[in-house]
Amino acid sequence: MLCHGLSPRSLFFSHIYTPDLHFPLPMYKALLRQMSTKKPVTQPAWHMPSAQTPPVLRINNSLTRKKEPFVPISPSRVSWYCCGPTVYNHSHMGHARNYVCSDICRRILKDYFGYNVLFVQNVTDIDDKIIIAARQQYLFEEKLVKKHQELDAALVEEGKRFVSAYAQANLAGFEGELADLVPFMDSLDVPALSAAVPKLPMYVAALRKAHDVVSRAAQNGASLAEFMAAIEDVAVPSLDKEFGHTVTEPEIFKKLPAFWEDKFNKDMERLNVLPPSVTTRVSEYVPEIAAFVDQIISNGFAYATDDGSVYFDTVKFENHPDHDYAKLQPWNKGSLELIEEGEGSLSTQTLKKNAADFALWKASKPGEPSWDSKWGPGRPGWHIECSVMASDILGSTIDIHSGGVDLCFPHHDNELAQSEAYFENKQWINYFMHNGHLHIQGQKMSKSLKNFITIEEALETYSARQLRLVFAFGYWDKPIDFKDSLVKEVQSFESTLAKFFTTIRALNADYRHSVSEGKYVSLKLSDVEKALLVQLETAQADVHAAFCDNLSTPVVLRVIGDLVSKANTYIQGSATGQNELRIEVLLEITRWIVKILDILGFEARPDKLGWMDSDASDSAGSASKEDVAMPYVKALSQFRDEVRNLAIGKADASEFLRVSDTLRADLINLGISLDDRPNGGALVKFLNELEKEEFLKQQQAKEQQAKEKELKKQQQAAANAKKEEERLAKMKIKPEELFQDKALYSEWDEQGLPTKNAAGEEVTKSMRKKLMKQYQQQEKLYGEYLKSQSA
Ligand SMILES: [Zn+2]
Repeated sequence: MLCHGLSPRSLFFSHIYTPDLHFPLPMYKALLRQMSTKKPVTQPAWHMPSAQTPPVLRINNSLTRKKEPFVPISPSRVSWYCCGPTVYNHSHMGHARNYVCSDICRRILKDYFGYNVLFVQNVTDIDDKIIIAARQQYLFEEKLVKKHQELDAALVEEGKRFVSAYAQANLAGFEGELADLVPFMDSLDVPALSAAVPKLPMYVAALRKAHDVVSRAAQNGASLAEFMAAIEDVAVPSLDKEFGHTVTEPEIFKKLPAFWEDKFNKDMERLNVLPPSVTTRVSEYVPEIAAFVDQIISNGFAYATDDGSVYFDTVKFENHPDHDYAKLQPWNKGSLELIEEGEGSLSTQTLKKNAADFALWKASKPGEPSWDSKWGPGRPGWHIECSVMASDILGSTIDIHSGGVDLCFPHHDNELAQSEAYFENKQWINYFMHNGHLHIQGQKMSKSLKNFITIEEALETYSARQLRLVFAFGYWDKPIDFKDSLVKEVQSFESTLAKFFTTIRALNADYRHSVSEGKYVSLKLSDVEKALLVQLETAQADVHAAFCDNLSTPVVLRVIGDLVSKANTYIQGSATGQNELRIEVLLEITRWIVKILDILGFEARPDKLGWMDSDASDSAGSASKEDVAMPYVKALSQFRDEVRNLAIGKADASEFLRVSDTLRADLINLGISLDDRPNGGALVKFLNELEKEEFLKQQQAKEQQAKEKELKKQQQAAANAKKEEERLAKMKIKPEELFQDKALYSEWDEQGLPTKNAAGEEVTKSMRKKLMKQYQQQEKLYGEYLKSQSA
């Protein structure tokens, strides 16, 4: 074969003369080529490659309830506001779902599509729920815990009053006689009634607990600490009613949300949710909020009332030709229940003009935190905070606003109205993304109920990775049911991937070891590997299409699962000798899978050949080199000792194999498996805790099987020995004595063969034939016996 553009002659010359020339071979060749052509020295025409039309990123926009092409205001930057937590209690699985799903979507935009995302999230630290919780916690400490050093009769009486008041306030039909309380609760069909009164199970549980401790305390059967803990839930509403208005110290209202904000951040960190680019706290935005409200009044869409509150005028806004109210859920516009829930439980009497109007600024009553304003002492309403803080950082038009689907109406619809009234523009938010509901075992979970699983509790049972997988297995905008079958599916996916990564790392280490030992390892691809590369390419295209189609993570994970199974088939083929193993194609597949998983928030190991195992960080960091190496060195040293002793004692080969097996078992306990391969050398695999346990289980099962097999063998041997014994006993019988049993026969011929049976009847011909055969067999056997005796 000839090289490009060189005649046999020039090739010949280049071989002969190059060593003596003072310029390198490529230049020499180029010179030859130039001399042999008359074309001008310019670059030839370049052909623009033709491309297929790429898929466009589409996102489900709640403003149209359709997947819309995503067009950010600036081509490379995305502005995003996410409604943050109201911090007054534990974060629960509903929060986990919302914030992990938002995190996954944010990471995809940032790390897959390459946008610079400015992600702003607020902390709601001024809120009716916070005010009530802070006040109640404070009053419980001050009025009960600090006041009582012992559980005396007066305290028990007080406890009874709390129980009675709580029961009357929360159990419809209960008359207030404490003795009737337990029978009354027993008569309630709580599950059926809870459809109409969702908090009923919580009320009943609190009452049972408190009633029980009060009864026991009356007979000196409870400790003070126990009493206080059990009475708290029913005591605080009464205390708040009586003393709530006296709580004025601003610190009291700061302490509680600060505590829960920190807890929330820690939960998010454990779930590997990226912190916001910017965090905005309502308590740090009160002057800005007041100014914003004032501007809305100036623009004609809000009004102050005589009590010092300010309301948004929904009717005026709705009737304005440039504006629409309730863009997200216009069908909920008149829903008083939703509107009132949005207004908070402390605002029962209002002077607003229209039922749908909502508070921008609330006059504070005694016992509520307040800030000075031109309308008097007050505090921000709920919805206004997000409009002000989002606009402050992101401006008058924002690309994405996200939150839980519960927030659509009234919260987000009111945010839109306020901001568009303030900026006098038509579209404050371009894309509204709402995360679907979370159900637990088919049941709806609600923020205000105490039937939730906290994130802390969930993390005791599941790893952060498993929770993230559960959420990524669903579509971000659809409901997810956190049920056992889904968890199982997730765990199996997780284990398949973990095993795959372990194998890949082992194969790679093995390959590198071989190369460093000076072995020649072929990298040439055959059709099998080329087919695998095509499968990778298909997977990449499918994942791209899935991301473009509304960030469809469940599809992405399925594609990854399929690709892993194809790669596993290939690896299996190499283990059974069907094909050889080419490491490069496997590494290419693995690195791509790890990259996509990393984008979804399953962080990659530093070598990019797997995801980070949660236990990886605590084991490696602190221990010294000796500590890490010692258990392995010990196993090796023990192995050496035994091998030496066996060799010195000239032991049998089987003994060496036994010692090898022991070493292998010891290594499993250290998290290393040695997989035998047809070509000799074992594949060394580093196992994580889960794999190690599984391995040990398999090993135990194998040992059990071996034991059972051994037992069967022994039983069989015993049976054989017995048979042999019987045979030997039978051997010694002379043939003529074989049929001498008088219970069977009564007459015999001279040979000793029966002629009549015990009843005196003639032995039949066929019977006689049978007996004859047995007789002959015994003759042979007896002959053998005589022979063995004489030998
Ligand atoms: Zn909000």
